[in-house]
Amino acid sequence: MADIKGKRVLITGAAGFLGSHLCDRFIAEGCRVVAMDNLITGSLQNIEHLFKLENFEFYHHDISKFVFVPGEVDYILHFASPASPIDYLKIPIQTLKVGSLGTHNLLGLAKAKKARMIIASTSEVYGDPTVHPQTEEYWGNVNPIGPRGVYDEAKRFQEAITMAYHTFHGLETRIVRIFNTYGPRMRLNDGRALPAFMGQALRGEDITVFGDGSQTRSFCYVDDLVEGIYRLLLSDYHLPVNIGNPDEISIKDFAEEIIKLTGTDQKIVYKPLPQDDPKQRQPDITQAKKILNWEPKVHRSVGMKTTWEYFKALPEWEIIPRSFQSN
Ligand code: UDP
Repeated sequence: MADIKGKRVLITGAAGFLGSHLCDRFIAEGCRVVAMDNLITGSLQNIEHLFKLENFEFYHHDISKFVFVPGEVDYILHFASPASPIDYLKIPIQTLKVGSLGTHNLLGLAKAKKARMIIASTSEVYGDPTVHPQTEEYWGNVNPIGPRGVYDEAKRFQEAITMAYHTFHGLETRIVRIFNTYGPRMRLNDGRALPAFMGQALRGEDITVFGDGSQTRSFCYVDDLVEGIYRLLLSDYHLPVNIGNPDEISIKDFAEEIIKLTGTDQKIVYKPLPQDDPKQRQPDITQAKKILNWEPKVHRSVGMKTTWEYFKALPEWEIIPRSFQSN
């Protein structure tokens, strides 16, 4: 793989869950990291350990507005976006803008700087899939006007405009379709299944499973995901690649795994299934294996334990019930 030591890398969404892990990885590779975030859903706590470093700088900026970065930029990793169903409901317009206007601004920057750009796309481009497992060839089954439409369609537009810059301007682009990912630095109150269940365990509440819990997801540990992204960025493959862990599980079984892991005596309580909640999801990672020689290595039992340790160590004020929090 190419040596990227000393390269200057712009990471958007840098204070978020994935963005912050990417900052760590590129710093560890000896890069100069320019981190950007508007802190709507990200948190400076995720990157505060990097501020003392000489090869790390942070811009508090909303990339939906014109993006200015002085000096050279070799790579752009576009990971800014609200990414949980609760967030899209709260900030739908920002979600649409960061995926569309934000991506356009960054593509313009990449073109001006002659940088290579990778965009964070998502399994949500497949919507509630009728093909299982999902291959990159599948075009998806998305409801454009449903609650998830603001995210799904922004991400689909993001792929379209990225491909257009590649085809029309010859820009070097990469597209990673990210499936459900978990690990330390997820937000306890972002409404996603794993932090929701672990937060409930910490507060001694029952676990809320939506629907009958028969819907499936396939959870990838964040370190595996970062490795896949790193390899894709440095590959010469410009078409979308699924990165995720094909180990599929129903949400009910997942809840039971968490009850066992946390050693609590929580009961499962069933709540209505949100609109357009995909019934099944599992990545087909044949392409990633073939092109990137990548596959996930961290078993759920290991990754979940690390994540639980992280949540357990959070200060108490971060664990208070969501209904008492202002955001
Ligand atoms: N889910 C649940 N209880 C919760 C939060 C989520 O049963 O408190 C379900 C949700 O309806 C979905 C699955 O868990 O079927 C995964 O949800 P998540 O938000 O983590 O990811 P996504 O739906 O975006 O894949």
